Amino acid sequence: IPRPIELLNSALAATSAVRKNIQVQDAVVHWFKMDLRTSDNRALFLASEKAREAGVPLIAMYIVSPQDFEAHLTAPVRVDFMLRTLGVLKEDLAKLDIPLWVETVEKRKNIPSRIVELMKDWGARHLFANMEYEVDELRREADLVRSFAANGIAVEVVHDTCVVPPGQLKTGTGKQYAVYTPWFRSWIGHVHGNPDLLELSDGPAPNSGSARIRFAKLFECQIPPAPDNKKLSEEDAKRSRALFPAGEHEALKRLSKFCDADISGYGKHRNIPSMPGTSNLSVHFASGTLSARTAVRTARDRNNTKKLNGGNEGIQTWISEVAWRDFYKHVLVHWPYVCMNKPFKPEYSNIEWSYNMEQFEAWTQGKTGYPIVDAAMRQMHSIGWMHNRCRMIVASFLAKDLLLDWRMGEKYFMEHLIDGDFASNNGGWGFAASVGVDPQPYFRIFNPLLQSEKFDPDGEYIRKWIPELRGIEGKAIHEPYARGAGGLAQRAGYPRPIVEHKGARERALAAYKKGLESN
Ligand code: FAD
Repeated sequence: IPRPIELLNSALAATSAVRKNIQVQDAVVHWFKMDLRTSDNRALFLASEKAREAGVPLIAMYIVSPQDFEAHLTAPVRVDFMLRTLGVLKEDLAKLDIPLWVETVEKRKNIPSRIVELMKDWGARHLFANMEYEVDELRREADLVRSFAANGIAVEVVHDTCVVPPGQLKTGTGKQYAVYTPWFRSWIGHVHGNPDLLELSDGPAPNSGSARIRFAKLFECQIPPAPDNKKLSEEDAKRSRALFPAGEHEALKRLSKFCDADISGYGKHRNIPSMPGTSNLSVHFASGTLSARTAVRTARDRNNTKKLNGGNEGIQTWISEVAWRDFYKHVLVHWPYVCMNKPFKPEYSNIEWSYNMEQFEAWTQGKTGYPIVDAAMRQMHSIGWMHNRCRMIVASFLAKDLLLDWRMGEKYFMEHLIDGDFASNNGGWGFAASVGVDPQPYFRIFNPLLQSEKFDPDGEYIRKWIPELRGIEGKAIHEPYARGAGGLAQRAGYPRPIVEHKGARERALAAYKKGLESN
């Protein structure tokens, strides 16, 4: 069975001659998806060039698809961020006399026919878009390229989201890497050997003023509100707006501030959840308000070296973290079955998970009785973001201590994260549950107490997110009931641990072993 990316590539190859012969009519269209920025946007730049060469206006378009939100489990906080970003993008484009047409199409299956209608209305025969690597999107784009070409519309879909496009890195025997470290060595070598990969595209050229008159209606459209089931409460919306201001300017500002101030200490501070030691840029990468190229290049340039693996250690480490994002997207493209609820390692398909819904509920509510786990879950509930160290701790706790199906946690994360990204989330869960690509070995089981003492030694993070425990002093914060603070915890309504780690660990080891042996 061909991979979805192969379907798209062969659709592009098969229609190449037809597409080349399609003449530009009255306008060229860029279709925004998860690339909500004007700077360093490959497809937008190509669309702009096409329009400029033909002397016609560029029109930008975004389709709001409630069914896509459902299918992708998009968190309300993420929908809110995207809609806010569209507002910023619309204003920025309008300054260049480029309209951004935003329209809601209720049913996903109607999107292609609606685009055809719009393009006919606008007299446009060229549609540009950046490639998205999820299975449904690749398949849809493959169909679109073929069916549109048959209707005299050229669809150009290009790589943009990764620094190194998927498929370019191969092992010595021509295979896809399944282990990060050699993949990363190859990634660095490839970027050094192909400096154009870090060349940034210019923003779109302005339209001539006549576009404002001709397409006046398009300038007037409003950004729609979130669908009812994705609406945030007023309080949550206010908080999110303050913490995660939308749009590419905010992304660039944050990147620049991080590179000026915090990146040097990244290696040292990135595991301490109480510190602002990481960039907090994930929402921007996930929504495309920041390109990975811009991020890596900016960091590299601060290092006063043209190399990605030299100079300041914090900068090198940060670049290697941004590369994880590429890694997981490459994995998704090469092994698309990870998109289909299957573990990357099929030999882990037979583990008997517990499906204890009471325990799952306690995990989701931040009421497991393990303060570091609960603080992290409450952080996610409160702001839609969780520190990476804590993502690893709570994921390991769910899959190993509770022996709950890791896919329940994966889904729950997507439903609540502002930076929810299928490939990174799936990769992170696969790593923590030891069923993914380059995972933690199954017998290495995080001890939540040791993690808590090591990475939140003074309990600052725990106290911030669990008000019930604020009165507890010293090391008792890590396990109040076992360290003489049980009375206080109980009076404040904080629960006892729902499992005992040592026993849970033994149970997990036995279940993983049994699952493996049953193959
Ligand atoms: P920084 O430490 O500043 O890193 C910079 C950027 O590098 C991040 O913004 C992100 O784009 C990328 N990055 C860093 N670490 C990773 C990683 N391990 N995997 C992939 N990319 C990485 N990240 C998401 O963007 N979306 C998710 O849905 C997501 N789910 C996760 C689920 C689990 C169980 C785990 C363990 C990790 C998950 N991550 C996810 C990765 C990581 O936790 C976040 O990217 C990071 O916490 C974001 O904070 P930051 O921007 O301050 O990161």
